[in-house]
Amino acid sequence: AEKGKIGIIGSGLIGQSWAMLFASARYNVTIYDINLELVNTACEKIKSELKTMEKNGILRGNISAEQQIELIKGVAKLEEVVEGTILIQECIPEVLSLKQQLYDQIDKIVDSQTIISSSTSTFLPSVLSEKMEHRNQLIVSHPVNPPYFVPLVEIVPSEWTEAWVIKKTRAIMEEIKQSPVTLAKEVPGFALNRIQYAILNECWHLVNDGVLNVKDVDTVMSEGLGMRYAFLGPLETAHLNAEGFVNYTERYSNSMYGVCQQFKPSPKFEGPLVKEIGDQLNSHTPLEDLQKRRLWRDQSLIKLSQLKKYN
Ligand code: NAD
Repeated sequence: AEKGKIGIIGSGLIGQSWAMLFASARYNVTIYDINLELVNTACEKIKSELKTMEKNGILRGNISAEQQIELIKGVAKLEEVVEGTILIQECIPEVLSLKQQLYDQIDKIVDSQTIISSSTSTFLPSVLSEKMEHRNQLIVSHPVNPPYFVPLVEIVPSEWTEAWVIKKTRAIMEEIKQSPVTLAKEVPGFALNRIQYAILNECWHLVNDGVLNVKDVDTVMSEGLGMRYAFLGPLETAHLNAEGFVNYTERYSNSMYGVCQQFKPSPKFEGPLVKEIGDQLNSHTPLEDLQKRRLWRDQSLIKLSQLKKYN
């Protein structure tokens, strides 16, 4: 059966990933950007990516790369990406005024059946949508880079996002085989960055207090906690580390609390330690090697995502 239409606004890194994910589930995808040249470049990139992934046996979905490419079309006008669309995935730069301007334009042409979904990493849905007539159709669907290999999507409604929008957005994310979580209410940082920042804060303190150097702090994560966290969250980890979570708290809550009483307030990441951490990172991953290292990261994530197809 003919699937509906999904619109991608902003054809950069994240827009391209979303386009491929939606096409893998047979949606008709239109991509829009501020000029057609950018759109065409993005479509060419998507084409070659999909073919490479097919060749490497890592293409998602159960239709060929050629069939997926057929489903993705570049368009020149905002109307073409908005009208008759089930869901618009906004992927323009993380600049509030730019996003609000775009939403103002969308607001004038969108009908009441279209979900307006933002890829924003930092803006609350209420802030993006407060001035919109169609504000109850806006929701955040925050992906993690690179979305094709990291399945989490944080779905964040504002207090005025309608229930059907939340439900349908989640269903679509499940349909394209991402792994959505739905926040019951908006909070700054959503969930992923709140957890990430708690970790970063403690890493900062461990280096600042001279307990570990930068490389060793990262090793605690990559060779220790991270090994589990690719498969189990911290709560289930605790559940398994005793005879269930209740028993874990009986055994460890006092010592845990004792350690946490020593935690220092959130540091502001500024001052001489910034340069020190930067220098230590540059000594094993120099700035000129960042792109090489990102490719290595993405290759590793591909292998991990293969491994995680547990059966
Ligand atoms: P990007 O800079 O790669 O791409 C943005 C694209 O939007 C560009 O092609 C630009 O020309 C286009 N654009 C700008 N204004 C536009 C407009 N008014 N209408 C249509 N297109 C417009 O950015 P990105 O890394 O793909 O990030 C996009 C969004 O996704 C941001 O909100 C970002 O916070 C979020 N996000 C990014 C990452 C990441 O790791 N890159 C992860 C999660 C979420």
